[in-house]
Amino acid sequence: MIYSTQHLAIVPKRQGVVRIDLTKRQETIIEIVKRNGPITGEQIAERLGLTRATLRPDLSILTMAGFLEARPRVGYYYSGKKNADLFGDTLRRMKVADYQSVPVVIEETASIYDAIVSLFMEDVGTLVAVRDGFLQGVVSRKDLLKVAIGGGDIHQIPVNLAMTRLPNVIVIRPEQSLYEAATLMVQHQIDSLPVVKDTAAKGWVVVGRVSKTTIVRAFVELGQYLEI
Ligand code: ADP
Repeated sequence: MIYSTQHLAIVPKRQGVVRIDLTKRQETIIEIVKRNGPITGEQIAERLGLTRATLRPDLSILTMAGFLEARPRVGYYYSGKKNADLFGDTLRRMKVADYQSVPVVIEETASIYDAIVSLFMEDVGTLVAVRDGFLQGVVSRKDLLKVAIGGGDIHQIPVNLAMTRLPNVIVIRPEQSLYEAATLMVQHQIDSLPVVKDTAAKGWVVVGRVSKTTIVRAFVELGQYLEI
């Protein structure tokens, strides 16, 4: 099958994700500053046999990306940051709020049967159980399967008998980083986290969902923009 270029979707650039695609000249500049810093723009230009004006765009890119630091009337310093550090910085700047998907919630008194139907309809692996709009627990595929193979009446048994309940629910907030979310999922061996907001009333309101799929999507996007 021949694909037209229309199939090559361009993912919009997210705030805080930097494309780092250094040219040979930029790498040479970093080397010069590393060895001789602090060094002025003119001095760098001299060493490269170029004019200061030609070098200006390179210097501003390297400063913006965090490789170099510029001090007025002193010159350029090497920031000490390697590509790996910049990669870490970028990961930590990716906020849950920018990547979360919509939460899939169910009343904690709903039946196991309803939860299973919702799982299929919404194409998720975990549901968030609520009461009066506040988070009470989470119920996953295996929690539901356990009840089903236990032989109970899945039309009668409520979700709150199968769920992992508070205070054992691991949550994340929109302002936290995607990296923190991924770390929590690995540490607790779970596939998803409810994204919550505190309210004046006691309890958490569920505003989103981060799953391992969210992390894989962000990882792919990072690969498109962060060339290191
Ligand atoms: P699966 O059903 O595919 O194993 P998980 O690995 O996410 O899905 O769930 C494993 C167990 O961890 C389940 O008992 C589930 O209730 C619980 N669990 C899932 N998400 C969370 C969470 N955010 N906080 C606490 N426990 C969770």
